[in-house]
Amino acid sequence: MSKIEFKAESKRLLEMMINSIYTQKEIFLRELISNASDAIDKIYYKALTDEKLVFNKDDYYIKVTADKANRTLTISDTGIGMSKEDLENHLGVIAKSGSLAFKNEHEAKDGHNIIGQFGVGFYSAFMVADKVTVITKALDSDRAYKWESEGAEGYTIEPAEKASVGTDIILHIKPNTEDDQYDEYLDQYRLKAIIKKYSDFIRYPIKMDIAGK
Ligand code: ADP
Ligand code: MG
Repeated sequence: MSKIEFKAESKRLLEMMINSIYTQKEIFLRELISNASDAIDKIYYKALTDEKLVFNKDDYYIKVTADKANRTLTISDTGIGMSKEDLENHLGVIAKSGSLAFKNEHEAKDGHNIIGQFGVGFYSAFMVADKVTVITKALDSDRAYKWESEGAEGYTIEPAEKASVGTDIILHIKPNTEDDQYDEYLDQYRLKAIIKKYSDFIRYPIKMDIAGK
């Protein structure tokens, strides 16, 4: 299994995320929940025009699972999932390269924290995780894939097992440092507060699960 390098623009953003000096690291959860919601939207809109597809409301939700023992935080959705090509094209490159240019241009000038307001996307996961594993199965596919990255070096993709369509984003939460208590992203009350603050408007249910209980 060979490692594929990130594209140049992605690398810059990634480095920025990994060495993040931003105070609002918590916004990673907003970004991942918004992606999960977008993925469910895609099935919803497909069902409007596809007679074979029925959108049964109860089947669509987002689930946030904190596992303190294994130090993982998982954001799961029952959305449209990603094919191998999607993983290469959407997670291998930065979708909104515009946000980086925008940030560079404005942040220096007024010292304002643009990142907190601007959609920075999937890579923001690397602000709190030293490894990200994505397990996904696309709609209309009988194959599942695992995408994995420790950041700077690139990513790997390999076949995986997943019973249902959708995506699990597994964040391997960084160890605490003197300056940053990453443990807080495994705490259910803290997570609930972050979800309430940034994702209150999401129109699909957000369930919370505590592993090992
Ligand atoms: P944006 O959401 O602005 O497109 P992101 O960096 O947040 O940028 O995500 C990049 C792309 O990765 C998305 O556009 C989508 O195609 C794909 N993606 C990310 N998360 C998911 C997910 N949970 N389910 C399906 N596709 C996803
Ligand atoms: Mg996004």
